[in-house]
Order: sequence, then C-alpha cells, then structure tokens
Amino acid sequence: MKRAVVMGGSYAGLFAARVLSDVAEEVVVLEADDTIGADGVGRAAPQRRQLHALLAMGRAQLGRWFPGLTAELVAGGARLGEGDAVRYYVDGRLKAPVPGTRMLGVTRPYLESAVRRRVAALPNVRLTTGQATGLVLERGRVRGVATAAGEVLETEFAVDAMGRSSRLGSWLEGAGWERPPVDRMRVDLGYATGTFRRGDELGELTVVHSGPGPATGYQPTHLEPGGLVAVEGARWSVVLAGYADLRPGPDPEEFRARMRRAVEPLRTVADVCEMTADVTTYRFAESLRRGYGRLGRFPGGLVVVGDALASVNPVYGQGLTLAALEANSLAAHLRSGADTTEPAWGYFRRASAVVGAAWQLSTTADLAQPHVTGPYPPGYRLLRWAGDRITEASIVDAEVGATYLNVVNMMEHPRALTRPRLLLQAARALLSEAGRDTP
Ligand SMILES: Cc1cc2nc3c(=O)[nH]c(=O)nc-3n(C[C@H](O)[C@H](O)[C@H](O)COP(=O)(O)OP(=O)(O)OC[C@H]3O[C@@H](n4cnc5c(N)ncnc54)[C@H](O)[C@@H]3O)c2cc1C
Repeated sequence: MKRAVVMGGSYAGLFAARVLSDVAEEVVVLEADDTIGADGVGRAAPQRRQLHALLAMGRAQLGRWFPGLTAELVAGGARLGEGDAVRYYVDGRLKAPVPGTRMLGVTRPYLESAVRRRVAALPNVRLTTGQATGLVLERGRVRGVATAAGEVLETEFAVDAMGRSSRLGSWLEGAGWERPPVDRMRVDLGYATGTFRRGDELGELTVVHSGPGPATGYQPTHLEPGGLVAVEGARWSVVLAGYADLRPGPDPEEFRARMRRAVEPLRTVADVCEMTADVTTYRFAESLRRGYGRLGRFPGGLVVVGDALASVNPVYGQGLTLAALEANSLAAHLRSGADTTEPAWGYFRRASAVVGAAWQLSTTADLAQPHVTGPYPPGYRLLRWAGDRITEASIVDAEVGATYLNVVNMMEHPRALTRPRLLLQAARALLSEAGRDTP
C-alpha cells in the first residue's frame, strides 16, 4: 500500500495508524482538533476529561503495539495494579481478588499523549491537523480524502476514526451508497469526575469499581455507584455515575457528599484528600453500533474503527480496549492477504466479533435498569436470571469470580460465563452459601 489516511487522530486512529505503518509506505493521520497539544486534552472528544479505566485486555494490547510503554507510563507516575490492588464491589460486597489481572491507573490524556508520541516517532507516519470533509470514491473504491482546506489527499485506503459523531454514513449516502443500520440502546447516563491529591491513605490500591447488582435490583438504594483510579501526578481520579434523575452534578460539595455514600475507599478519599480540580460532568444518552458489516455493498479500501463503529455505555470501561482489539482485527485482515482495494468484509467480520462481545456484555447489564426499555434480545428473561445467579456466585466463589473478572476485563468472551462447568460451579457455590445462611 502506498499511502493510508486515518481520519481522526485520537486513541482509535492512533492504534489504526500503528497497524497500518507495518504495511503502508506512508500513513497520514488527519486530526481536526488543533488544541490537543502536549497535555492531550483538547476541545474535541470532551470525554477525555472523564476517568478512564484501561481494562486488563486493553493494557495487554498496549504492550503488544507499543512495547515498553506501560513501563514508561509507570516511570512517569502511572500505577500498575494487580491482585488486591484492583477491587470490584457488587452491592457493596468486595469480590475476591484475581491474581494476574493487571490494570493501569493513568488519565486518558496522559495515556493517549504517550501513544501519540510513539506513533509520531514512526518514520512513515505523519500526524497533521485538518478536517476530513468527504471521500473521493471512484469505481467503487476510495481514491482520496477531501479536507476542509480544499485539498484532496490521494489514498487507496482510508480509516474512519472520527468518533461517535462520524458523518461517514451521510457521506456514503450522498455518494449513492447505503447508510449502515444502527443499533441503539438508550441508557441516559450521567457521569462526573473529580480529582484529588493522593497520599498513602489507601496504600497500593490502584482501581476500584463499585456498582449495584441483583441484591438491590441494580438500584443505588444505599450505595453510590462509582470508582476510583490512582493516576500520575499523585492524584486520585474519582468517578460517580447515575442514571436518569440520579445524574451527578458539578458541585464539589455534592460530589464529596455522594462519595461519602459510596464504598469505603471512596469515603476515605472524600474524608482526607484535597480536591485539586473542578468536577467535570458528561451526559451519555445511548450506546450505539453501526452495522457496516451488514451492508450489501461498501466501497473498497475503507474501514471504520473506535467509537465511529461502536460506542458503548462507559460504565464498563470498554471503549479504549475495543479500539485496540479493532486494530488487531485490522492487522489480521491485512495479514490475511486480502486485496485492500476491495471492500474490507474480512475486517468487519472480525471487528463485529469483538464489538458483539462488548455490546452483549454492556446491553445485557443495562437492561437490568428499570428505565432502560429495550430492545430485549431473545430469551432475555432466562439470560437475566442466569446472569444474576452468576453475578451472585462470582462474589462468593473464586473460580466463578475469576472468569467473571476476565469477561469484564475483555480477556474472555461473555460466553465463558455460560459454560456448563462454570454454571455447575456457580450452582454449587450458591447452594453452599444458602446452606451456611440457613440456621
Ligand atoms: C464519560 C465517558 C467515560 C468513558 N470511560 C471510559 C473508560 O473508563 N475506559 C475506556 O476504555 N473507555 C471509556 N470511554 C470510551 C472512550 O472514551 C471512547 O471509546 C474513545 O474515546 C474512542 O476513541 P476514538 O478514537 O474512537 O474516538 P474519540 O476519542 O471520540 O476521537 C475522535 C477524534 O476524531 C476527530 N475528528 C472528528 N471528526 C473529524 C474529521 N472530520 N476530520 C478529522 N478528525 C476528526 C476528533 O477531533 C477526535 O479527536 C468513556 C467514554 C465516555 C463518554
């Protein structure tokens, strides 16, 4: 491939550029936001200011594509947590730690800036500021990317990494192609992130995730859902999340008060740590995924990655990991010897497997919320009932807990939770727990 153009230079675009740098003579990354700068925050993609957890699979993929980067980040103040430094609470009950689950505590801008530096240092990659405004399509394939500056960047391969508000669907429709079908699930989520000075009040603790579960009907009846991450700069990044009317606001005192109704580590931070930045809020209305792989026809030399392909409820922390796994799908497609000027069905098939897994996990969990009203998958009632029992068993049984955590960290497919051996183990664990509770 002579030249590939990646439209969007955020996390997913940077991973795609890294993959393409192995096969293209030149990779151009076109990023519209000229304010990202050294701090990595920028005006576009305001979710960058929210707490970002990097799941164990996302950390592993970071190591695959950028060897040594985790160590560099840790040397700069990020924290790598393992074993009981990573705590998951369900209904306020702490799950058994799972040895080997490694999560990186780092802010999104710090992580993304480090990735950007590595990509910028690749000899055949050029990062440039500019807005993509359309595709030049000829004889059913991509020939160029048009920019707001009136130029056309000639290319035989283009990547849409323009985030969830990507306009690729309308560009295609305008050029006589079809828009992709879109799956949506309305969740009406509110997010707020606060930043605190970190001392040694919680020892080596790196990541805390706490959410309601079956015992409370998935409602925050007596505990605030939220989490915290130890990040660079000796800080805690703390997130609170609430659906519909329970959305957290930007008021710092209200934020602290809500933290005092959460699990113990958040209460400790609220009590002893100084807040060092304004609380930032974010509203996430719905999860969506675009079914490009389900279209009957599609231009050759074009793929879609990151939130432009699928953007799921952030409470499960999957977005960055999905972007990296889609980069793997792209690498596998390119390695398969597929003709890159043809429609990239092989890529979309692989990517839809990873997106499907993330979608299944997040939407099944979201449907437990009474204000989320579908669409329900076939057999949902049975799925919900079994899911609830597995969640309960994961709190009391180490084996079920380990598989559950691997699924949550995207190390295993959600179907691992329906293996007969695991279901049997879960049933045994619940029966023995019930036996203990019976006088
Ligand atoms: C509140 C919240 C919390 C989250 N928490 C987590 C978490 O804990 N863990 C996790 O893994 N994920 C999390 N996510 C998801 C994660 O933020 C996204 O999955 C991730 O940002 C996707 O990266 P992306 O590169 O696809 O898109 P984005 O980061 O949205 O970037 C798109 C880029 O494209 C550029 N662009 C747009 N249009 C054009 C154009 N026409 N030309 C050129 N450039 C263009 C934009 O300027 C932007 O830089 C969270 C999301 C939200 C909303």
